Amino acid sequence: MSAEVRVRYAPSPTGEPHIGNIRTALFNWLFARHHGGKFIVRIEDTDQGRLAPGAVEAILDGLRWMGLTWDEGPEVDGPYGPYLQSQRLDTYARYAAQLLEQGDAYRCWCTREQLQQFRQQHPHSSSPARDSCRCRLQGRPETAGIPDTDEDEGSVIRFAMPTTGISAVRDLIRGEVEWRNELQDDFIIIKSDGFPTYHLAVVADDHLMRISHIMRAEEWLPSTPRHLQLYRALGLEPPHFAHLPMITGADRAKLSKRHGATAIGEYREQGYLPEALRNFMVLLGWSLDGVSEVLPLDSIIENFTLDRVTKSAAVFDQDKLLWMNGVYIRELPPENLAARMKPFVERRLPDEKLPVDEPYLNRIAPLLQERIKRLDETPEMASYFFQEPQPYDPALLVQKGMDAGNTAAALRAAGAALKDCANFDRQGLEELLTAAGEELGLSRRQFFGTLRVAATGRTATPPLFEMLETLGRKRTLRRLQTAAALLTDSQD
Ligand code: GLU
Repeated sequence: MSAEVRVRYAPSPTGEPHIGNIRTALFNWLFARHHGGKFIVRIEDTDQGRLAPGAVEAILDGLRWMGLTWDEGPEVDGPYGPYLQSQRLDTYARYAAQLLEQGDAYRCWCTREQLQQFRQQHPHSSSPARDSCRCRLQGRPETAGIPDTDEDEGSVIRFAMPTTGISAVRDLIRGEVEWRNELQDDFIIIKSDGFPTYHLAVVADDHLMRISHIMRAEEWLPSTPRHLQLYRALGLEPPHFAHLPMITGADRAKLSKRHGATAIGEYREQGYLPEALRNFMVLLGWSLDGVSEVLPLDSIIENFTLDRVTKSAAVFDQDKLLWMNGVYIRELPPENLAARMKPFVERRLPDEKLPVDEPYLNRIAPLLQERIKRLDETPEMASYFFQEPQPYDPALLVQKGMDAGNTAAALRAAGAALKDCANFDRQGLEELLTAAGEELGLSRRQFFGTLRVAATGRTATPPLFEMLETLGRKRTLRRLQTAAALLTDSQD
């Protein structure tokens, strides 16, 4: 084991990176950064049947998006590579040979069907492979049908699990955990396709990559006795173990699609900010003081110790995530917010001439900042800045105590005043339109209500004068005219 803190995130590229899995990456990354150690990414792609095309890229993209930079791993490489298990087969073969040689592993020719049958007949056996097969004791059976040319063909290599004693670990989160060895099966370490299983590969690589702490999800805890016995048999010192609490939905069931988005990419698409998601996810099992929620990254790193990680399951509360995202959106400098909104606007308003006018979006962003909780709300919320208002009921223009006639007149008067307005900015507009409203004998609520609907087609918008200033004179005048015409038409 290394004195330096070296932790790893070891995903299997079997599909879209799951949010729970990224929490594992995040905790490892924080732990490494806290200790000034190394964060290593290793791709565990030995289960050839489950590989999903594009999954490695999706994993790396997800990490990059979350800001979880890795010190060693794919793309950056490092002193203990390759970091793709499928490129390390020789290494595992060497370890397997050592175990065979020592008598800690054996070739097994039993078929899957034989094992299945035994399982059905002995449902209570905790070690069906060992109990059903004679290979451990007697070696290769002299059965017909095994080609003479390659006597290993069709066989697997199993680890000879001790049948007495216990395997024990002091887990840094869960404390002492023990397993009775007799209840563990003789698990496969090399499959019939020559690829190692996870168990052998993980032990070999964690050792060779000088991993100091294995921090992984609780679901891997039951594999730990197997790993401990492999370390023992290979004469290696195991790293420290820390099993992270399970993540559940609000109903306390393990987090799944049923609870909402589970792929990190979906959160990105929905307009969550990576820093908000990161802050939210760190609270899935860790807390600073049980109270503080919105925390700067520096302070998280500074305080990221395992004694602050809980054993109990963490609830993934979508409402809290949404709230937190809103908080982070409000804290962004407007230009930064605009830059993040841009792809969402471009994607959703494809009729607009692309690319989106950046200085214009820079002025729109602060108007929406208080109103959105996700970036993907932007196109809808801001559509009238880019496109003419959606068709609306002209009756919306007519405020309480007004009629179509004086509403149309008010719109024309506002148009005339705005045409010559010297200062088309928040203050200039407020002064001018307040005076115009008074002259028309309308209350602020009436006059401004009419103007708001005319300019946007909506009754709820950001503050009127800032909004009109951003919209600009040309668009505003055109819309006031259209609105007045709508009223006149509706009177005919
Ligand atoms: N490849 C395993 C996974 O997909 C890694 C488990 C571990 O961290 O030991 O989660």
